[in-house]
Amino acid sequence: MAKYQIATIEGDGIGPEVCQSAVTVLQETCGAGVLDFNQYPGGATHYVRSGFVLPEDTFQACRDSHAIFHGAAGMPDVTYPDGTEVGNDLHLQLRFKLDLYANVRPIRLYQGDFSPLKNRASGEIDYVIVRENTEGLYASRGAGVSLRGEVVTDTLVMTRKGIERVARFAFDLSRKRNGAPRDGKRRLTVCDKANILRSYAFFRSVCDEVSKDYPDVEIDYAYADAITVHMVKKPDFYDVIVAENMFGDIISDLGAATVGGMGIAPSGEVGDTHGLFQGAHGSAPDIAGQNIASPLATVLSGALMLRWLSDRHSDSSLLASAQRVERAVEAMLSEKIAIPRDLGGNASCTDVTEAILKHLT
Ligand code: NAD
Repeated sequence: MAKYQIATIEGDGIGPEVCQSAVTVLQETCGAGVLDFNQYPGGATHYVRSGFVLPEDTFQACRDSHAIFHGAAGMPDVTYPDGTEVGNDLHLQLRFKLDLYANVRPIRLYQGDFSPLKNRASGEIDYVIVRENTEGLYASRGAGVSLRGEVVTDTLVMTRKGIERVARFAFDLSRKRNGAPRDGKRRLTVCDKANILRSYAFFRSVCDEVSKDYPDVEIDYAYADAITVHMVKKPDFYDVIVAENMFGDIISDLGAATVGGMGIAPSGEVGDTHGLFQGAHGSAPDIAGQNIASPLATVLSGALMLRWLSDRHSDSSLLASAQRVERAVEAMLSEKIAIPRDLGGNASCTDVTEAILKHLT
């Protein structure tokens, strides 16, 4: 048996293709006997077949494995009677049940002119969005009130414990980094709407309290509307951004766009005991099954998984493997060997996978 069991859910749309690509890269990088990717069903397509979006066996495997690896889930036309999508329940349930409270979304510009922003070189955009992942507006999932078809409410939930732990996570992350590209300063930007709602003012005040334990990290504030402008006009200012669940969801897609698009945006959703790794993108039904999706986000999420496992199990060989994957992606992009379509090239998912494998040094 391999050292680490990875519960793997390919999911819907482009999920299977990008997942298979990443599994190939991770297996090749780590070598035999290190990672066992065990496949489990789940997602919108599985729901249509079976009535279960996250079957109990799949959940138990996720709970009992060393990590969870996922392609993507969701089909826009597979919905509950209330109009919400079924597929997202796969990762939402995992987040809530396994308490994956910090959703880590690195935004990094690689060499190769992939930013739609003018005059931005690689290295100038390199920050991480930490999206609070279990509270905020999405905590109401499935529990909003719909009254007589006239009035509908969802409740935004904030707790001191939830804010404190995600703030601490974000400060600790800043300490492990080299600061913002602009000035090298370690900086945590709190993204909220403290000017409008009590819940966000509370979010800000608890982040402030936590900041007292991190005098070496500058605290900074930005309203969620204003930060969309700053992320475009001065992205080099940012080091780590912490945001409420929905704001984090939205601004991380914007961040991804500034470095090339969803196809290069990884994510890792972690708690104190479990971790789920998937690209930050969805199932992209518009390009599914055509071998044209970029597997880079999923491959880089795999590297995040190796880093997380390395930390948890004090296994330095996994950190070395994560770095090999990241270097290979960097090299094949900078040499313009296989540029995926969303970054302006015409390489297929398979071409990109092969190019990464060739660049593993
Ligand atoms: P999406 O991220 O799937 O797609 C948005 C755009 O980005 C599309 O044009 C798509 O072609 C492109 N894109 C996404 N991933 C890409 C990749 N790897 N390579 C190249 N291009 C890529 O978002 P959407 O269209 O809003 O949602 C589609 C489905 O995914 C919905 O059912 C939604 O609920 C679901 N969803 C799932 C997740 C998840 O699994 N974590 C996240 C977001 C959305």
